[in-house]
Amino acid sequence: MESIFGYMEKYDYENLLFCQDRAIGLKAIIALHDTTLGPATGGCRMWQYNSEMEAIEDALRLARGMTYKYAAAGVNLGGGKAVIIGDPYRKDREPIFRALGKFINRLGGKYITGEDVGTTLRDMEYIRMETPYVVTLPTYLGGAGDIAPMTAFGTIQAMRACAKEIFGNDNLEGRTVSVQGLGAVGYHVVKQLVEQKARVMVTDILAAKVERVVKEFGVRAVPPEDIYDLDVEIYSPCALGAPINDATLKKLKCKIIAGCANNQLQEEIHGDLVHKMGILYAPDYITNAGGTIYDTDRVGTGNVNHKRGKEKVSRIYQTMERLIEISKRDKIPTYLAADRLAEERIRSIAEVKKYGGDLPPVL
Ligand code: NAD
Repeated sequence: MESIFGYMEKYDYENLLFCQDRAIGLKAIIALHDTTLGPATGGCRMWQYNSEMEAIEDALRLARGMTYKYAAAGVNLGGGKAVIIGDPYRKDREPIFRALGKFINRLGGKYITGEDVGTTLRDMEYIRMETPYVVTLPTYLGGAGDIAPMTAFGTIQAMRACAKEIFGNDNLEGRTVSVQGLGAVGYHVVKQLVEQKARVMVTDILAAKVERVVKEFGVRAVPPEDIYDLDVEIYSPCALGAPINDATLKKLKCKIIAGCANNQLQEEIHGDLVHKMGILYAPDYITNAGGTIYDTDRVGTGNVNHKRGKEKVSRIYQTMERLIEISKRDKIPTYLAADRLAEERIRSIAEVKKYGGDLPPVL
């Protein structure tokens, strides 16, 4: 990024805020991308960046990602993100997060924060001491608690919608699925697939995670490097990194890619290549929105309600159907169709918003 304003203009950012306290040692950046649909919402990341510019770019890029994620998911929130420049393992956390809470409170609900890489639920408790505008909280503070099972549930909905398109039937019974990564979400993806009687093969770089799911669910395990070679109908990337790249595309034999991992395409070109190969790719920010849809359901409703939250997550199925439609209508790969779906929703709701009188966020 050469120019901050140049970058903000290019992607139409609203606001970028710098928060500093010398005595506490706080250096934080809050980026608000687009608040057409509602308050800018997105987690708070704590990371030791190589430079201030790198931190700014991360905050801006992640905030924009949240705009698209909420817009495509049908959630009435905008995109925002906070980053704290600092050691994520720093011990004296209370003053840092309470000070950030003060800055967030000054924004009067224009930005709502949550947990992200390098921050914990305990940190969110500190923020909550200074502002109500924090969504990810433990259940004893009125939050939704562990959202990984709902992220997995959303991933399965996207997978079912893809199965309907490819096989004419969204029943996963008997379908062969490979799951890469058996962490917080991957574990539940396997669990839910097994409940639906899919034939599942798994891998993880940590032997203990593999042993656990093999023991609990009786699935077959393969070494991490073999996961791309399997003769399966569906490949579900639930680990880290960019698993869709030049090397893996030479190996994949699946008809569908639907997993929860973030940033699955190494480059956009890999989304184009997948499309050309006739593989139906469920874009990552659509498949993995379930956790945040569930978590943020209490913004606007004021409380956690499992049934209502789960119902909203289940709509990822319809979202996936819509973007398959857009992909066919406009003859574009699904990752671009997802962006188009999000942009179309923001544009049309902007029309609704012109009447004014928005409801305030309730938390
Ligand atoms: P996690 O850290 O709990 O699990 C990741 C797992 O992947 C670990 O078990 C790790 O050992 C394994 N792994 C890493 N590299 C691997 C490789 N090369 N091959 C096989 N296994 C490998 O993380 P998580 O919370 O389950 O999230 C998984 C992915 O989903 C991440 O990309 C994350 O950003 C994304 N995601 C998670 C959530 C959520 O609710 N937790 C929400 C949205 C997106």
